Amino acid sequence: MIQSSPASSALVLFSGGQDSTVCLAWALDRYDRVETVGFTYGQRHAVELAQRPIIRAKLASLAETGPKLGSDTVLDLPALQSISDTALTRETEITFAATGLPSTFVPGRNLLFLTYAAALAYRRGIATLVGGMCETDFSGYPDCRNSTIQTLAKALSLGLDKPVAIETPLMFIDKAGTWELGMKLGGEKLVEVIVEDTHTCYLGDRSHRHAWGYGCGTCPACELRAKGWNEWQARTT
Ligand code: ZN
Repeated sequence: MIQSSPASSALVLFSGGQDSTVCLAWALDRYDRVETVGFTYGQRHAVELAQRPIIRAKLASLAETGPKLGSDTVLDLPALQSISDTALTRETEITFAATGLPSTFVPGRNLLFLTYAAALAYRRGIATLVGGMCETDFSGYPDCRNSTIQTLAKALSLGLDKPVAIETPLMFIDKAGTWELGMKLGGEKLVEVIVEDTHTCYLGDRSHRHAWGYGCGTCPACELRAKGWNEWQARTT
């Protein structure tokens, strides 16, 4: 256990990827009741969503924190697909624009996710959202920046007339740090779940198994995950 806090609850934005799984473990370590929310919007890596219940079941079986895991909600946001024209939702090659943003970028996606999550959390009597947004990501998504997220928390608090906190435990750590945090939170058992069951690959490949998990090994998401793993391994040996 890294730390504990008084009676509290959190809603974790949980996609089934590595980052949101570490965030879920982080929340289970810290809050008394933890619920999860996922979003469907025709994403090409829908395989990630299929991993969600598998990962949740494994985390629920952990003796110490498992019993804190509460209900899961999946919200369908098909409008996202109709307003995006990217490799994430269509069978086109992932490319990087002059801005450095990959073509998988859905403009403002995290703002929408967090706003829907806040509405759900309001209904569930939860004041804290937890998300895996990270400033150190290769892609530099502007809706992952700390200033964006914390400004949105203010807007949501005003708009809901209730305090809304957004916790982002991965905001300032790199991918090696994410592996390290997973190890700190749940030891080898959690790292095994991350390797075996979380999905990151943009191409939805679960046929190639690497030391760091499943994926094509060559898309930007796989490269980032592999790089983080290798750096973490180098740090620990
Ligand atoms: Zn891949």
